[in-house]
Amino acid sequence: MKTLLVAEYRDGKLLGSANELINFAAKLGGDAVMFLVGNETDLPNFDGKLYLADITQAGEFNPGGHKQLLLEVIEKEQPQLVVLPHSSYGWDLAPRLAVALQAAQISEVVEIKEGQLVVPACNAKLRRTVKATTATTVATLQSGAFTPSNDPSGNPEVIKLESGSSGDIQFHGYEAAGAAAVDLSKAEVIVSAGRGIGKPENLPIIENLAKALKGEYGASRPVVDAEWAEPSRQVGTTGQTVAPKLYVACGISGAIQHLAGMKKSEFVIAINTDKDAPIGEVADVLAVADLKQLLPILTEKLNS
Ligand SMILES: Cc1cc2nc3c(=O)[nH]c(=O)nc-3n(C[C@H](O)[C@H](O)[C@H](O)COP(=O)(O)OP(=O)(O)OC[C@H]3O[C@@H](n4cnc5c(N)ncnc54)[C@H](O)[C@@H]3O)c2cc1C
Repeated sequence: MKTLLVAEYRDGKLLGSANELINFAAKLGGDAVMFLVGNETDLPNFDGKLYLADITQAGEFNPGGHKQLLLEVIEKEQPQLVVLPHSSYGWDLAPRLAVALQAAQISEVVEIKEGQLVVPACNAKLRRTVKATTATTVATLQSGAFTPSNDPSGNPEVIKLESGSSGDIQFHGYEAAGAAAVDLSKAEVIVSAGRGIGKPENLPIIENLAKALKGEYGASRPVVDAEWAEPSRQVGTTGQTVAPKLYVACGISGAIQHLAGMKKSEFVIAINTDKDAPIGEVADVLAVADLKQLLPILTEKLNS
């Protein structure tokens, strides 16, 4: 199988997701070529052909224009699989490409199983193995699912592309998200609340344990979406990435999007009523218990 990897620049810099694409291709096997709208001073460590369009001409966020350039490369290389990061860049570009190629699109790939792509289903509680029946497939990779343990090495063979089409959108720039009210990235201890807390009235159980451990409290996305905790407390792909010495996951199932934000924690304790919850796979200790019963006892012991 031949794969075309589409790397991404943001704010004039190559994003680390390029390494995840390279790692994905290595796991999948077969040939891989790369496409990038960027510049020659900041290229991925990729051993293979890299089709490079100049960012000053092609624009950094220009899905219409980038699609045209990609179609040229696809015509030349005839890949069976085109892979992009599951980011706002990938979200805009992948469907445009899939429509132009009449190709199947497989979004948010988290694993490769026996050569097939695996995606989350039912709010990430299940996983589904998907096989496309079209000649070409466009796929996006969930951030954090293919992070290599070591950065790849290699020098690409650069093939320059001439940018022609200006695309169909006008990009006015990025707007920085408001400064986080809580910077969880510096916390040494984080106690996080998941949907398993049941109701907002139970959040103080989590806060109290965090205080007793002299740490901060965090939350999974459903807790933030339900407005039980402020958005700056969210851990995960669309929240903060944290690396504390101790992470206590309370009533959190362990969906890939949550794990991507906390898997660099040194020691993980999970408290869950379900002994088979996926968080058990990354936890150093899994307490199979009702958090409403266990946490107050733990907090009291720590405080005394
Ligand atoms: C594009 C995208 C981005 C996302 N970004 C994020 C993100 O940044 N962060 C994030 O967290 N999620 C994110 N998600 C959502 C993610 O897929 C999961 O839906 C979410 O992480 C699940 O949250 P949870 O573990 O709190 O809830 P659930 O999956 O519902 O798990 C609740 C857990 O609580 C346990 N439980 C229930 N009652 C108790 C009790 N009394 N005591 C102890 N345990 C109990 C249950 O056994 C279960 O394991 C994203 C999803 C998408 C599609």
